Amino acid sequence: MYQWSEEHQAIIQVMRSFVDKEIRPHLDEIEYEGVPPYDIIRKMYDVFGLKEMAKENFARMLERKKTGEEAPARRGGGDPGAQLISTIELCRVSPGLVTSMGVSTGLAGGTINKLGTPAQMERWGLDLMTFDKVGAWAITEPDSGSDALGGMTTTARRDGDEYIINGSKTWITNGPFADTIVLYAKLDDGSGEDMRNRKVLTFVLDKGMPGLEQSKPMRKMGQKASPTGTLFMTDLRVGKDRLLGETEEPKGGGRSSAKDNFVSERAGVASMSLGVIEECLKLSIDYAKNRKLWNKPISDFQLIQLKLANMEVARVNVQNMVFQFIERSMNNAPTSMAEASAMKLYSAQAACQVADEAIQLFGGNGYVSEYRVEQLARDARVLRIYAGTDEIQVGAIAKDLLK
Ligand SMILES: Cc1cc2nc3c(=O)[nH]c(=O)nc-3n(C[C@H](O)[C@H](O)[C@H](O)COP(=O)(O)OP(=O)(O)OC[C@H]3O[C@@H](n4cnc5c(N)ncnc54)[C@H](O)[C@@H]3O)c2cc1C
Repeated sequence: MYQWSEEHQAIIQVMRSFVDKEIRPHLDEIEYEGVPPYDIIRKMYDVFGLKEMAKENFARMLERKKTGEEAPARRGGGDPGAQLISTIELCRVSPGLVTSMGVSTGLAGGTINKLGTPAQMERWGLDLMTFDKVGAWAITEPDSGSDALGGMTTTARRDGDEYIINGSKTWITNGPFADTIVLYAKLDDGSGEDMRNRKVLTFVLDKGMPGLEQSKPMRKMGQKASPTGTLFMTDLRVGKDRLLGETEEPKGGGRSSAKDNFVSERAGVASMSLGVIEECLKLSIDYAKNRKLWNKPISDFQLIQLKLANMEVARVNVQNMVFQFIERSMNNAPTSMAEASAMKLYSAQAACQVADEAIQLFGGNGYVSEYRVEQLARDARVLRIYAGTDEIQVGAIAKDLLK
């Protein structure tokens, strides 16, 4: 059975002291004052030598791309447990920061490095992996949402060797500030093909290009440390050098490129949920022992104990799911779409329930920001919406089981 090793425990401790020293003192700025989290993320890259590691990983990926060697089944190589520890630990304090970082490196950088030519990887991929630049990954549109691929109406019209892009994307993480944007659009080749069935192309855009507008950050319920915005493309002209793979038919491109991210993204959400659950449980235990009413700590009340017990059940279940995913990744054993979706569905709901019960346990103190559980409850809520809503996960599980 998988367990955190001694080495993992050491990483957890180092991460916790980084969080205490470098993130908690700045939490109000990123959660309440609209300061983007990028400087904190860069500090983390410096402190943990992540930049150098990213460069080494990138050099290996580039070499494989040049020689045509198959990528290892385990994404990015390395220790998947160690990689998820940072997600879990950072989510205990700021899930929004994790969303910003994951979208930039995992979704934007990952897509470029997977589909791009060596020249495109060097032009955009490396700076995203080292976090020298901030990336966004844009598929969702105001009128498509869960029907992201079929309902997509952003078009790329061929014009000689170039394309002219028109449309808009919304709810885009890092959208307001991104230097590099991976953008999905439907090919308009003048054939009159039904919009739903058209080929999906993947482009890379740079901040400041004529015809690209990046909105201000939206005001939202939670994950305020993660800036979210809308992108508008108006007669945006791009050359073929910005089409990933420089072909309309890259291997694993278009629709399957978007779907490829589903399993890792859903497992990532489970790890985020685990961080939220662990922190809510820890805060709740401390509070229950210290809050005294009727001359005794509220931890003496059975209804409070029931809340703690339910939180522990959720923690054990979600941790088991995450550990199983890590173990499978280490053994290069695939996680099915049904399993990944089940993991995401369960863990996101568990995180929301635990955070909500934590507010209840804290009473009025749960409703004010000082005690942090209200932030975690607001932040957890989107885990049931992005990376596929609960309802979409139910559909994905059933589809996979019934195929
Ligand atoms: C904070 C945040 C960050 C995000 N970041 C990104 C990003 O970086 N890049 C990106 O491209 N997108 C991003 N998204 C978009 C996100 O993926 C979508 O919000 C999500 O896919 C749902 O789409 P929607 O909001 O349009 O809801 P809709 O699709 O309109 O759904 C409305 C309701 O209908 C339900 N529903 C939809 N279809 C079905 C069905 N077939 N059966 C039953 N019920 C159904 C949904 O579950 C939901 O309850 C982000 C969203 C948020 C909130």
